Amino acid sequence: MDTHPPAAASGTVAQNAASGTVAQNAARGTVAQTTATGDTSVPLTSPAEPPERLLLGPGPSPVHPDVLAAQARGMIGHLDPWFLEVTDQLAAMLRQVFRTQNRLTYAVSGTGSAGMETAVVNIVDPGDTMIVGVNGVFGGRIADTARRAGAEVVTLEQPWGRAIPTDQVAEAVAAHPEARAVALVHAETSTGVRQPLEEVGVMLADSPTLLLVDTVTGLAGVPLEVDAWHLDVVYSGTQKCLSVPPGLAPITFSAKAEEVVAQRTTPVRSWYLDVTAIQRYWGAERAYHHTPPISSLLGLHEGLRRVLAEGLETRWARHAEVGGLFQEHIQDRDATLLAEPGNRLPQLTTLAWPDGVDEAALRRRLLEEHHIEVGGGLGPFAGRAWRVGLMGEGASHAIVDRLLDAVDGLLEG
Ligand code: PLP
Repeated sequence: MDTHPPAAASGTVAQNAASGTVAQNAARGTVAQTTATGDTSVPLTSPAEPPERLLLGPGPSPVHPDVLAAQARGMIGHLDPWFLEVTDQLAAMLRQVFRTQNRLTYAVSGTGSAGMETAVVNIVDPGDTMIVGVNGVFGGRIADTARRAGAEVVTLEQPWGRAIPTDQVAEAVAAHPEARAVALVHAETSTGVRQPLEEVGVMLADSPTLLLVDTVTGLAGVPLEVDAWHLDVVYSGTQKCLSVPPGLAPITFSAKAEEVVAQRTTPVRSWYLDVTAIQRYWGAERAYHHTPPISSLLGLHEGLRRVLAEGLETRWARHAEVGGLFQEHIQDRDATLLAEPGNRLPQLTTLAWPDGVDEAALRRRLLEEHHIEVGGGLGPFAGRAWRVGLMGEGASHAIVDRLLDAVDGLLEG
């Protein structure tokens, strides 16, 4: 296995600057290039070949070769009739995965953060109130995004590791009946907590307040029912339980949310993420807005095909079983689970090692000696916790066995 960074093969910039002609340099793997500062040459790097890794961190998750192949099959125009058919199929498959009939369902060109920003900037007019659950990093980011969009943000805080109770949401909504939206993180990747959503959805269904949900780590890993739970603006990312490379953010808007967008009194602050303009491409009009990441969309198409071929319920059950098993066994190694019982995500486990275990050193050795990536803790969990993702292609018994064997070896050594 080759774990060297790709440039290492062809020497440093300084070495190559020792020069020679362009032809000579090209022949030995460097090429002379005059830079803005007038000097020297840069290495002609070898092709970037990622080393083998088993991706068991908070994302990206392992990607099936068929998905990688779909991205590399060829280029086509974004207005080509064949590709427009692909986008229709993508929207239809996303509706199935989100469990919704929502017309306005598509993939934002950008990562999960672009989904977050799309959700917020399209529904918030400056001065609107937004209630945001903050029990980890990503709730904090929604609050930040909403403030930047001009919202008056009311935060609902809970310690890391706990979900936001429905009563707390109810009190805030009673105190702020004018709130444009309540925002909750379905699967908090920094804490491993699953946020129950059904009761909040029912509570808000007949009110003017929207329910905005971040399910970047939740989609296709744990149950999510956009229509049945009355969720209004729901976004995700591709690199978690969908097992597709990062770069797209599936999103869906309910009819109630579409109405809010239609009633806006100010233009959406982001030109790029303006959902009304983007719908002119994804909808019947088929007008150019921006050039979408075509290869990524082809990869998502294959990834969604795989999700639906497995069956959504089967996939949820696989994550529950594999993640539950890992959580049971890792406690036998004296690790403590940090998410509250009852609301633990099976696909993302936060665990703390006992005092005296150097989590960073253990994590580094796991990568170097076993080629397995897991994540470190964030915020109050930094320096003592791991975040282990068993997501999508990574949620299997064989992978749990490999991880536990590797951990056992390291703890003994
Ligand atoms: N929301 C949650 C819950 C996440 O876990 C992440 C990324 O890990 C994001 C939002 C941001 O997504 P991205 O890193 O793809 O921009």
